[in-house]
Amino acid sequence: MVWYKSRREIELIREAGKILAQALFSIEGVLKPGVTTLHLAEVAEHIIRKHGGYPAFKGYKGFQGAICTSINEEVVHGIPSKRVIKEGDLVSIDLGVLKNGYYSDAAKSYIVGKPASARAEELLKTTRKALFNGIEAARVGNRISDISRAVQATVEEKGFGVVRDLVGHGVGRNLHEDPQIPNFVSQNGDRPLKEGMVIAIEPMVTEGDWHVEEADDGWTIVTRDGSLAAHFEHTIAVLSEGPMILTDLR
Ligand code: MG
Repeated sequence: MVWYKSRREIELIREAGKILAQALFSIEGVLKPGVTTLHLAEVAEHIIRKHGGYPAFKGYKGFQGAICTSINEEVVHGIPSKRVIKEGDLVSIDLGVLKNGYYSDAAKSYIVGKPASARAEELLKTTRKALFNGIEAARVGNRISDISRAVQATVEEKGFGVVRDLVGHGVGRNLHEDPQIPNFVSQNGDRPLKEGMVIAIEPMVTEGDWHVEEADDGWTIVTRDGSLAAHFEHTIAVLSEGPMILTDLR
């Protein structure tokens, strides 16, 4: 079931989203070769709590980290640890914030220092563009499949792969709620986009084949062929005046 949000509720999600954006900004300030992924999680948690929020991933279905940190062939759900980030690593940061009973959810990928290859840089650029093309399609009168089509076309036009196993989702009083927002065109569960829908659009894109699997830690999702993966995500509101990003600093 889809919960449509009032303007007041959207404001509350935006409040959680601003804290999230501040945490991401702080991570960017310390993200360099030599830091551990655990340090990034600590920085994020500090900022989130300082603003009266709670790091929404912590304890979610038993997840232990404050955020997700996924490196290179890791797509999503990497657990922060003492692992040290190296020059050229592609690091994906995914985080959620709970405040006043409402969630926000966003992700961003970075190449630390000098990119390992031109293709890695292209992967990052394309995934980000896919997210923004998806957001552009999130308009009243369109359907969920219009978002999916915009994302998929942007990715495949550059010869990259769209992960099928994980999808975007509604956000609100729950971190994950209906509807699902696939990054590929599927008629399954397709529905019209309506005023007050709040959704996380989150392309997960692979340099090679799109198939993924779970790593031995029971959490981390990795590409089956070991190729690089990138992930960009915003929580947005579908409004009569157009899509509104709720997880940025504006
Ligand atoms: Mg998400």
